[in-house]
Amino acid sequence: MDELNEMPETQESYATENITGMYGEFGGMYVPPALESKLHVLAREFNAAIDDKSFRDEYLYYLKTYVGRPSPLFYAANLSALTGSRIYLKREDLNHTGAHKINNTIGQILLARRMGASEVIAETGAGQHGVATATAAALMGIKCKVFMGKVDAERQAVNVSRIKLLGAELITTTAGTATLKDAVNAAIEYWVGNPDSFYLLGSQVGPHPYPVMVGYFQHIIGKEARQQILEAEGRLPDSIFACIGGGSNAIGLFSAFLNDEEVEIHAAEGGGSGSKPKTAATLNFGVPGVFQGTYSYCLVDDKGQPTDSYSIAAGLDYPGISPQHSFLKETGRARYHVVTDQEATDAFRMLSRTEGIIPAIESAHAVALAITLLKDRDQLAVINLSGRGDKDVERERNMMDN
Ligand SMILES: *Cc1c(COP(=O)(O)O)cnc(C)c1O
Repeated sequence: MDELNEMPETQESYATENITGMYGEFGGMYVPPALESKLHVLAREFNAAIDDKSFRDEYLYYLKTYVGRPSPLFYAANLSALTGSRIYLKREDLNHTGAHKINNTIGQILLARRMGASEVIAETGAGQHGVATATAAALMGIKCKVFMGKVDAERQAVNVSRIKLLGAELITTTAGTATLKDAVNAAIEYWVGNPDSFYLLGSQVGPHPYPVMVGYFQHIIGKEARQQILEAEGRLPDSIFACIGGGSNAIGLFSAFLNDEEVEIHAAEGGGSGSKPKTAATLNFGVPGVFQGTYSYCLVDDKGQPTDSYSIAAGLDYPGISPQHSFLKETGRARYHVVTDQEATDAFRMLSRTEGIIPAIESAHAVALAITLLKDRDQLAVINLSGRGDKDVERERNMMDN
């Protein structure tokens, strides 16, 4: 049987065997008791689901026929000529809805249905996870509520229209700064009060079992890429690259290569201006602490309180980070770099012109990092292109007009 048609039964083959959600000292479940019991049920149901071949087969069926997987691994000859390395792009931008997020929402919506949930709820900042969740909910015929800060909803009018068009209900909150973390609080409050709802989380963050679950559903990226590069080049890459917001597209690629010690692993954080306080580079400028249910790195202010982040890329603009990435940083297995708004913008334009591919501004961070590190090194490399850049064209137009 084709290896791509099989998903691992346990998490063992892509991460440490993980039933507590700990990655070294990071991770865990730092939540009030009302939430803890829900999370334990969720962890149990997730483990039972991935033990069940019919669940894995259905997940892969939708990835293939609905999302359009496997996504191609494209040899970027022009970019390679410019840098002097051989560079391949993993084309997550070609997925239905235009990014990697749909891999995870398909997995979680199938779990929600299996658990008999009457509706799914999701938080969203820029609206991308809201769109991916509303899409999966429409596909499965499950009711969907998307929580969004009022300020974000006003800034993201197009995604708000998409969410509504897809049949989901948008619930805006005016609490706090009316942005992502306030939407998370509103969604959690609703979840606790509505036992039949399923909280569909969008990145590799939050309490156990979410980091393990999201890592599992994104593992398909690296699993395919590993097989594809072996077919194309007959060997493993020297280095791999991804951008990192919460950490889901990066862990999706990295997890298939963690045991290949000869493969260098590099992640690009949203550096914003490149220094505090205008940054989203959590692993470079943050400290370990408990934030939104997990022990991981977090950006804090002078008093040690979690603070707002800043990045030109909405998908990278989050003050927390995946506990697994905190662990990979601490052990030195992966390296985390600061990529500034300006470097990402330059790479966004450069890739558009050299390869005819307009990347998401998030993904452009990974491209920028790769170009810097690969220059004249004669390496074989894979960059994860997490999403397409249609959503970023408007901002680019405004910048060019000015
Ligand atoms: C959401 C998003 C990201 C960042 O999220 P991760 O969980 O870190 O992958 C990156 N790229 C794109 C295109 C996104 O939509």
